[in-house]
Amino acid sequence: MSADTATTDRVPDLPPAPLERVLGALRAVGYHDLTALPGWSEATDDAVAELLGGFSDFVDKAIAPLDVVGDRQGSHLDPATGRVRSPDGFRDAYQQYVAAGWQTAAFPEEHGGGGLPWSIAVAMQDLMNGANVAMTLCPMLTQSAIELFSHWGSPEQQARFLPKLVTGEWTGTMNLTEPDAGSDVGAVRMAARRDDSGTWRLSGTKIFITWGDHDLADNIVHLVLARTPGAPAGTRGLSLFAVPARLVGPDGQMGAVNQLRCVSLERKLGLHASPTCTMEFDGAEGELVGAEEGGIRAMFTMMNTARLSVGTEGLGLAERAYQAASVYARQRYQGRLPGDPADRQVPIVAHPDVRRMLATMRALTDAARLVVYVTAHAVDQSRRNPDPARRAQASELAAFLVPVSKAWPTDLASEVTSLAIQVHGGAGYIEETGIAQQYRDARIPSIYEGTNGIQAIDLVQRKLTLEPGSAPVWLAEQVDARISELRGAGLDAESEALADALEGWRRAARVLVERRGVADLDVLAGATPFLGMTGGLVGGWLLAGELAGHSPRSTAAAAGSARFFLTQLLPRFASSAHAVRGTFDDLVY
Ligand SMILES: Cc1cc2nc3c(=O)[nH]c(=O)nc-3n(C[C@H](O)[C@H](O)[C@H](O)COP(=O)(O)OP(=O)(O)OC[C@H]3O[C@@H](n4cnc5c(N)ncnc54)[C@H](O)[C@@H]3O)c2cc1C
Repeated sequence: MSADTATTDRVPDLPPAPLERVLGALRAVGYHDLTALPGWSEATDDAVAELLGGFSDFVDKAIAPLDVVGDRQGSHLDPATGRVRSPDGFRDAYQQYVAAGWQTAAFPEEHGGGGLPWSIAVAMQDLMNGANVAMTLCPMLTQSAIELFSHWGSPEQQARFLPKLVTGEWTGTMNLTEPDAGSDVGAVRMAARRDDSGTWRLSGTKIFITWGDHDLADNIVHLVLARTPGAPAGTRGLSLFAVPARLVGPDGQMGAVNQLRCVSLERKLGLHASPTCTMEFDGAEGELVGAEEGGIRAMFTMMNTARLSVGTEGLGLAERAYQAASVYARQRYQGRLPGDPADRQVPIVAHPDVRRMLATMRALTDAARLVVYVTAHAVDQSRRNPDPARRAQASELAAFLVPVSKAWPTDLASEVTSLAIQVHGGAGYIEETGIAQQYRDARIPSIYEGTNGIQAIDLVQRKLTLEPGSAPVWLAEQVDARISELRGAGLDAESEALADALEGWRRAARVLVERRGVADLDVLAGATPFLGMTGGLVGGWLLAGELAGHSPRSTAAAAGSARFFLTQLLPRFASSAHAVRGTFDDLVY
């Protein structure tokens, strides 16, 4: 390497730290509006910046250094104890997380939570996923257990389980998948029967259970989908059970060890620190959560936030890869620039092709983050807006955007982490730089919590409507208004790109709606390209806010990146209109 003063003017500043970018995204989607809602007047912009600043310090110091350790060591099933051992340092770091109360921030106050907007939980997950996605999965699954108990648990169950789950002293898991029941949840066979004393007993095998056993916390509460005697086939016959690893008495104290165990761990491409367990239930004692045969309905209540959380995995991983590639591109000197009178080696960031990769990484990460954050904002509005009509509208918007917020950022994370490897050249393919780990870890969020294909089907079959006043129509109107603002500001290329994307999206949406019920295979064939178009359109609309003055404290770099997205990346998503208009018969392979 050689220092090169002649080219320093070609080397732009390092990107702002992840914290700054997370705060910028909260502002860009109008976080401030939430402080006007009941109970959130104290969650001001400054208070939130302080909280997230403290959390960012914590994850940088306590969580991030364990990411590589976790990847190299992995979790292990100890044959002597039959229990799962997490990598060195994980238990201690998790205990620090619990002791500091970080987990409680956005859970309901009546259950010991901090009562903050869900947007803050999403921002915290974004930061923590950027530090160590494998560890973050553990609290994320606990979050789903908390939501299920909060909505469907009896007051007595809530009193026994929620306080320890909200603090993180106990963790939760989601047990849906079985060897023959993956995307097809209705095929679940796990059996629940009452014994002579009337206690529910669960028997069967669940596979791929994240953090199904571990040593981070004292108890693990499994939320399990099972079938009771005589239940109808399919999803309608599923019931939800809480099956704690250590039984919990009426006083909330832990008792005997339950009849369940982790029988093996999967060896896998990434997420080595996160144990993926095959769980055997052998007459394990469980308690019904909600009504018998109400399991799938219960699952739907936690799905929005769970899917949003998986979207934040994509954000955290993409951000980390972008930051690392930005640093590396300034340190690695290779090649010369045409016409450089000094004719010296330059840092690779000076090469236009490397710059294109970095610009792409930044813009895709920003667009994906705004899509997730605007969805979280809608979730918050749907929970607290005093106007029932506004609540209903926000709820519909969140429902429409959730599949996009899960699938689009997680697909983009694979692309962004792959670009990060490319920026590193051969060093990126070598494990030492850490980028290879990000790439491996980034592959899974597209698959679990409903594959991205299943998200796309949800979008086109259940969520897309063109009824006046519906969420998709409202969104299209917002994009229209933004196009006019860009035009008014003389931003012709940007307004034209957004207008093309909107026109293509409207046509594609019309085709899908008209085909529904008439040519359903064609609708399904267009699902994934349409989801990408929707992500691009919503991301473009929100990024255009950087140019139209909607984002307070927007910087020149943020505006430049928004312009790059609109004029150079958005057309790529918009061009999927051709694929949506295609048919099932086109899919020749
Ligand atoms: C690391 C890891 C952690 C996991 N953690 C958990 C967990 O904690 N709890 C849990 O319950 N599960 C967990 N899972 C399971 C995960 O949710 C499933 O793997 C996922 O839902 C997909 O199911 P499958 O693997 O059976 O794939 P399949 O359902 O066999 O899907 C294979 C392919 O076919 C497509 N496909 C399937 N059905 C359809 C359809 N109807 N229409 C169109 N396309 C379709 C899918 O999109 C996919 O591309 C985890 C999996 C992994 C790998």
